[in-house]
Amino acid sequence: MKKCAYCHNTAELRDSHAIPDAFFRSISKDNNGQLIAIPGSDGKIHLSQDTGKAKLLCEDCEREFNKRFDAPLVNAYRTWDKAFIEKGSGATLSFSAEQLAQGLASIFWRASVSGNDFYENASVTTPDIDRLLNVVNADRKNVLKLCSCFISRLYDKNSQRDGGFKTDSLSKVILPVTAYRINVGGTQQSNSIAFAAVFQGFISHITIPRLPYKFRNKPGYLKPGSVKVRAPRTHFADYEPLMEIMVEGKRKEMDGQSSLKN
Ligand SMILES: [Zn+2]
Repeated sequence: MKKCAYCHNTAELRDSHAIPDAFFRSISKDNNGQLIAIPGSDGKIHLSQDTGKAKLLCEDCEREFNKRFDAPLVNAYRTWDKAFIEKGSGATLSFSAEQLAQGLASIFWRASVSGNDFYENASVTTPDIDRLLNVVNADRKNVLKLCSCFISRLYDKNSQRDGGFKTDSLSKVILPVTAYRINVGGTQQSNSIAFAAVFQGFISHITIPRLPYKFRNKPGYLKPGSVKVRAPRTHFADYEPLMEIMVEGKRKEMDGQSSLKN
C-alpha cells in the first residue's frame, strides 16, 4: 500500500482524477466513448480513453476532494458553458470567486503530483507544489490573496459558414494542465508559477503568488469577494498552447475524424 498524496496515511489508494472525470464523461457520451485529449508532449491530437487518473488519494481524501471541490466546480462550469452556448458572450455565472479559484487550485495540485504522463507538463518543483497546496488548504476568504485566477471563454471568431468551430465543439476540448514560470516585471515576481488547463470551453489559469493589482484588476481575473463571475472571450487560435497543436497542420487531419468539428 502507498501513501495518500494529501493526508500521507498509508492506505489503499483510489483512481484519482485531476481534471474531474465528469468533464471527460460528458465528452465521451457525445463521442462514441472517445475523448479528445491533447497532451502537449508530441504535439499530436489524440483521441483516447485516457482521463489522466492515477493512484493518488485515499478513499476519505478522494471523497472530501470530490465533495469540496469537484462537484461544485463541475456544476459551475457546466452551467456557465450552457449559458455561453445559449446566450453568447457576456454570460455570467453566480458563484463564489474564491470557491472557483480554490477548486481550480485543487485540480492543478492533483495534476502536479499525479505522475501520470497525461500531466507531465504539470510537473513542478516541491516548493511550487507546496505553494499550490497552500492555496488548496487556505481559508476560503484568503484564497485570492494567495493566488490570481483568470478564466476566459474559448470561441472561434470565424463564423461556422466560413468553417469556424461551433461554440459547443470547443467545449469538448480538454488540454491537460500545463505549468509555466512567468516574470511579471521586476524581480519580486520572477518566481511566479502559473498553471493553466482547458476544459468545458474555458481556459482556466492560476498564478502564484497573486499578481500586482494592475494585472489582476483586468477583465477575466476573479475579484475577491465576488459572487458573480465573468469570462472574456479568447479566440481559440490566439491561445498559443492550443494553436500550436490545432493549427500546425493538424486541423486538416481532424476533418471528418472527430466530433470536434461538426
Ligand atoms: Zn488521504
